[in-house]
Amino acid sequence: MSDQRELAAQFDQLAALMEITGANGFRVSAARRVARVLQEFDGDLRELAETPGGLEAMDGIGKGSAERIRQWCRTGRLEGRDRIAAEVPDGLIGLLDISGLGPKTVGRLWREAGVTDTATLREAINDGRLASLPRMGAKTIANISDSLDFAAKAAQRTSIGAALPLATQLCAALASVPGTTRIDWAGSLRRGCETIGDIDLLAISGDPTCLIAAFTTQPGVTKVLAAGDTKASVRLNDQIQIDLRVVPEQEFGAAWLYFTGSKEHNVALRHRAQQRNLRLNEYGLFPDDGEESPPQDRGKRPIASQTEQDIYEALELPWRPPELRESRDGITEPPPDLITVEDICRDLHTHTTASDGHLSIRDMAEEAIRRGFDSLAITDHSRSSVQANGLDADRLRSHIEAIREVDASLPEITLLAGSEVDIHADGRLDYDDEILAMLDIVVASPHAALKQSPDDATARLIEAASHPLVHIIGHPTGRMIGRRPGLEPDMRALCAAAAAHGTALEINANPKRLDLCDRHVRIALECGGLISINTDAHQAGHFDFLRYGVLTGRRGTLTAEACINAWPLSRLLEWLDRGS
Ligand SMILES: [Zn+2]
Ligand SMILES: [Zn+2]
Repeated sequence: MSDQRELAAQFDQLAALMEITGANGFRVSAARRVARVLQEFDGDLRELAETPGGLEAMDGIGKGSAERIRQWCRTGRLEGRDRIAAEVPDGLIGLLDISGLGPKTVGRLWREAGVTDTATLREAINDGRLASLPRMGAKTIANISDSLDFAAKAAQRTSIGAALPLATQLCAALASVPGTTRIDWAGSLRRGCETIGDIDLLAISGDPTCLIAAFTTQPGVTKVLAAGDTKASVRLNDQIQIDLRVVPEQEFGAAWLYFTGSKEHNVALRHRAQQRNLRLNEYGLFPDDGEESPPQDRGKRPIASQTEQDIYEALELPWRPPELRESRDGITEPPPDLITVEDICRDLHTHTTASDGHLSIRDMAEEAIRRGFDSLAITDHSRSSVQANGLDADRLRSHIEAIREVDASLPEITLLAGSEVDIHADGRLDYDDEILAMLDIVVASPHAALKQSPDDATARLIEAASHPLVHIIGHPTGRMIGRRPGLEPDMRALCAAAAAHGTALEINANPKRLDLCDRHVRIALECGGLISINTDAHQAGHFDFLRYGVLTGRRGTLTAEACINAWPLSRLLEWLDRGS
């Protein structure tokens, strides 16, 4: 993690701690603002801190905060954080991850009901302590209880949004250890799953001892679970387990295939091998000579082992991308030509400071240009999203003007004036048709009433997908991974309606959402529908989410042809225009 990301996380935590203890709201928002500024800063923080007046020149950083940042650079400690953290039980911070619990409520539960973590919260619900608190209704308590159950189930796994950057960083660091010629990740991470158990790393090295030593002593290791000559396991930041195996170069493909899984895919491949009088294991594909003991232990040479391709070929199978190695995927069908990050030419769902984004229209456009996009849709929230500063019709009109003005000044990119329009519980949209008709692109999304019945959800979403002025249904279920399940519409009915009206369904690439999920993408494609992959960026760094959306699309068998973000711009513009 870069210095500023690490410090931003500490400022965020400080803000949460202050709010829990009931600190002055002005100080809380100041700390949040500093976190945001740091999050978006992409220079060298230490260098800036040493430049006189450098930090103070940044918008949102006052004199006091600048001094604290300098102190952190010198000492690694954020002034005030340790003191306030000592006052607050450790488990309270974890409660903030439970859907429906903000810092203010957590503070109340702590002071008024003695809640200090998830276990004591569960107790307080069960013994009626929570119900005896003023202003704590039965419905609120039932919601908290639901969220607790849901979070407990999800707690054992790490989001791909945390695991992938971590693995990338680890591999980069270990690749520079002398003797390492290759290092890569395997497992559910390589298959692009939305949540990951452990991270499995696989390496080739001329000096395994040196690599294992570097692995077990790297920064962030909180426990070494095992350390041998060619493999080791560690726990990082007390959060995630990472396993490293060093294998000989000639066995890398067999090991990579084996440790990538899925288990079901490996079983199917072993079965295929048996049918051909072969034996497949993590060391290679061997002739089956009828002996019990493993062929590699008897000095037998494999038929294939160095690359995955060699092994698939020897089994007379097409190579499969890791994203298509789940139990639902066969092994004999040739896989489709899956979409890649490089295929994506644009983002069609982003926010600016007009609603709850952090950047201006121009800053967003320039970031999109930097990322090589040919176009960008600005889709701020509609009026009912009050908490997100949604735009009423008048503000939207001037916002459209402002987007057109910036567009005219930037020949490198085409800006589309859009909106993320709320879909009300009954399927009506948040703006009149007359307003919607002024926009280049309409993304319609559900934000509230996410617990309605499946029947109501189906009717609601079909109504929106059938609206002639709607182009995309944004995050169709509204789920948050590990936090809330979201709507549960009849997905096949929704996808069929969307396909019939030429409305695209979104894969929202935010790793907390990934909505549509991979299963739903498959259904949409089976119905002949279109997909749009968008990051829903609220700040520059959010454009990085794209890869999670693409991985989810690939797991759903998505090709560039079925993804409107990968089309030539002229084709997209024609498609957007279709209704008018
Ligand atoms: Zn949204
Ligand atoms: Zn959005």
